[in-house]
Amino acid sequence: MDWEKALLTLKARKADPYRGRQLARAVFQGAAASYAEVKVLPADLRQALEAEVPLLSSSEAAVARSEDGTVKTLLDLAGGGQVETVLMRPSPLRWTACISTQTGCAIGCSFCATGKTGPGRSLTPEEITDQVLYWRQFLRREAPGERLGNIVYMGMGEPFLDYEGFAASLRILLDQGLFGIGARHISVSTAGLVPQMERFAADFPQVNLAVSLHAANDGLRDRLVPINRKYPLAVLAGTLKTVFTLHQRKVFLEYVVLEGENDSAKDAADLAAFVRSVDAGLLHVNLLAHNPGVPSPKGSSSAPAQGSLAEPPRSAPPADPETRRFQGYLKELGIICTVRQSFGRDIDAACGQLAARSRAIDKEKE
Ligand code: SF4
Repeated sequence: MDWEKALLTLKARKADPYRGRQLARAVFQGAAASYAEVKVLPADLRQALEAEVPLLSSSEAAVARSEDGTVKTLLDLAGGGQVETVLMRPSPLRWTACISTQTGCAIGCSFCATGKTGPGRSLTPEEITDQVLYWRQFLRREAPGERLGNIVYMGMGEPFLDYEGFAASLRILLDQGLFGIGARHISVSTAGLVPQMERFAADFPQVNLAVSLHAANDGLRDRLVPINRKYPLAVLAGTLKTVFTLHQRKVFLEYVVLEGENDSAKDAADLAAFVRSVDAGLLHVNLLAHNPGVPSPKGSSSAPAQGSLAEPPRSAPPADPETRRFQGYLKELGIICTVRQSFGRDIDAACGQLAARSRAIDKEKE
């Protein structure tokens, strides 16, 4: 919802300011699916809003459901193009939305389906926050009483490629009069755009930051995460130190374990050295299994499964052996790390898979 436009619409009808607060409560907290449900407003205001301000800027094009309870939706965007957005349930009472910021991505990480699609446009702040509104409406409809707990900017695109638009969307999510999401319940992932990392730490010191590292020697990282050619590891390490002085929070290092590429004992030693060169106490390594469906020597893809939000979540598949082995190397080196569960692999909704599925969904619709 374009909130500025909604306020202007109310103002043009000389509505009292408290009408805006009533509308915000109904839409952002109550997840009203239509203006007809916002009965607290007089009919003339509802009609004016209906005519001028769509509740959601995007429309649902396709929905896929995983057997582990994850849901992925392909959205048609008001400004053109499509994007995928994901709802996960890491535990029975906790829902997390993974939102996208671009229709493609110019960074071109080697293991990422979005990167394979090439550059895309940046979403408007409204298109970004409407993904959260969409999932709030979805949960109200399909799992009444359950709440969206966390938001992760880890979907399609690199959020910091359009810092202004990203920051505007984050302010809307944090605004206590609108979405009212706590800063510590939001995480933002970047491939390592150094200048924007410092801006982000200064602008949003309470919001979690994750860096997609994936390799800790420059030769390999140049290939896996090409932005490394512009901001190599020594520069990234220096920036992380600056970030800590501004941010004063742990930063997460994301490391997708690619068999035969970055999973050797030497790669683990490089990672341990990088972590120690910054500050082992302020970094936390998250290991991610490589997900099928993304181009790779071993890539494969499976058909979407049907599930129901009413069913308890099935546990995500156990981590791959190579991920466990790599975790063992790090443990021997004294580096504490977590193996992050993958959700929605069977519908290409897991890390690195977004955009892989949209083309297939499109074909199913035709
Ligand atoms: S991992 Fe992130 S930054 Fe890299 S290509 Fe994919 S969307 Fe872009």
